[in-house]
Amino acid sequence: TATKETRAFQTEVKQLLDLMIHSLYSNKEIFLRELISNASDAADKLRFEATTDDALFEGDSDLHVFIAIDKDAKTITIRDNGIGMNKDEVIANIGTIARSGTKEFFGQLSGDQEKDAHLIGQFGVGFYSSFLVADRVTLKTRRAGLEKEHGVLWESKGDGEYAIETVEKIERGTEITLHLRDEATDYLDDWKIKSIVHKYADHIPFPIRMMGTAVSGDEGEEVKPAQVETVNQASALWTRPKSELTDEEYNNFYKHVGHDFEDPLARMHQRLEGKYEYTLLLYLPKRAPFDLWQVEAKHGVKLYVRRVFIMEATEELLPRYLRFVRGVIDTNDLPLNVSREILQKSPAMDAMKKGATKRVLGMLEEMANAEEGDNYATFWNEFGPCLKEGVIEDHANRDKIASLLRFATTESDKQSVSLADYVGRMREGQDTIYYITAESLAAAKHSPHLEVFRKKGIEVVLLHDRIDEWLTTHLTEFDGKKLQSIAKGELDLSNIGENAEEEKKEHAEKAKAAAPAVEKIKEALGEKVKDVRISDRLTESPACLISDSFDISNNLERILKQAGQ
Ligand code: ADP
Ligand code: MG
Repeated sequence: TATKETRAFQTEVKQLLDLMIHSLYSNKEIFLRELISNASDAADKLRFEATTDDALFEGDSDLHVFIAIDKDAKTITIRDNGIGMNKDEVIANIGTIARSGTKEFFGQLSGDQEKDAHLIGQFGVGFYSSFLVADRVTLKTRRAGLEKEHGVLWESKGDGEYAIETVEKIERGTEITLHLRDEATDYLDDWKIKSIVHKYADHIPFPIRMMGTAVSGDEGEEVKPAQVETVNQASALWTRPKSELTDEEYNNFYKHVGHDFEDPLARMHQRLEGKYEYTLLLYLPKRAPFDLWQVEAKHGVKLYVRRVFIMEATEELLPRYLRFVRGVIDTNDLPLNVSREILQKSPAMDAMKKGATKRVLGMLEEMANAEEGDNYATFWNEFGPCLKEGVIEDHANRDKIASLLRFATTESDKQSVSLADYVGRMREGQDTIYYITAESLAAAKHSPHLEVFRKKGIEVVLLHDRIDEWLTTHLTEFDGKKLQSIAKGELDLSNIGENAEEEKKEHAEKAKAAAPAVEKIKEALGEKVKDVRISDRLTESPACLISDSFDISNNLERILKQAGQ
């Protein structure tokens, strides 16, 4: 018995819908991109599942999308013969937002229309963008492999609730009908729809079909009836030669695979031939996704085998610290029905991961060395701390990653100084890279430990990211120069600078003169300190606390205390 139920949208969906309609009204046409993108994902999923169960094709393996316009009914229908959904999947996927970062997303909304539009775009409007042009949406779907009685009909006016019922659906896949709002009826024009498909979906590797226009004879009489046409190029973008591809095509493909709304910051498209053959088309986003810092953050590279989508990739394709990279890796060197277990043990996979990692780091290097533009600064602001994880995790590439790091120093408040810059500016006689860690840039800058460095004109790296404490336990050397905390242990600056010799003498004299005073202070402080020393560190403050070289620093002590350790 088919029972019709009415259900409420999850509160966040309702919020997202209102917000989206409010802030994306000048960008309505993206609804088509989103729906075609979903249809293409559904075809990918079916093709993958069918590699182990051919019956899922139900005798029809011509995967495609069909767009039908009904001018009288004022509807557009987008139909695919992909994987489809069963009832539970419809309820879970359409009507709820089940993704990490949702709370953060809503927390970041500002009420500023332009800013919010960006945020929403980045968060992804997906299926809900239908309501930009429609005041009623029906979705009819059946999952591949289920009997025709297990179709699902879903309908909503985007007003906070939806109706759902079980219906018969003969063909598998999903059909979405948009009942256009009065102000959106210009989308009933085939030419308009075709041009949007070109713009956004040429790279979709499945044909997108529409009815062509009938050709009329002189007296307005039909001589050639309308025929079905394929509107897009329908070839996997990454298989096409670079020379044939435009920036716009690359960018549109990025928006599809990266689920992003903005153009990417950079891209790399390479075909690699050697022991293993594979193609990389990888992008860097302009902005960090909301879930970048969540433990379950999604990785963004998709694995294809001979143009068949295999899986949304994981740490098997790129290391965790490069989780912000988006795109596709396609290879001929894996079996189509590859499981995660096989992937984990596959030498081909290992080689591709190494190769892809190397190329991503290469792309970053190139950006960092570019004379023009500030792409690398943009990248660093969004993803810098991820690279610091790389120094900790990726031993093989540690030096390369270290050279990509950018820091604030006593010479620059902005995180723009590379270790190579620092080394290039070292003073005569200096063989150590000095740094200080603190809880903020201001705290670092005002540390009394810096006094003597200022006096001697020695640059100090100011570290104030949470991860920096761990970074410095792994990054102990760069370009043959030791990194040393200026808040730890004995500091010998006596060989640095033009007046080094004189200063040494002066210090020795002072130490001698002060020896009795030091003894007294030691007695007075007793167990509270390990040692009392005459120091070169200070020029204005009378005294400061330091840790032993092998003790944890004050800052780490503070972080550990916060973490309840
Ligand atoms: P996203 O594509 O980013 O996951 P969407 O809002 O576009 O977000 O879609 C939500 C989910 O609904 C998809 O992940 C998919 O599981 C399901 N879905 C949407 N459209 C289709 C379709 N045409 N066929 C099968 N599943 C679909
Ligand atoms: Mg989508």
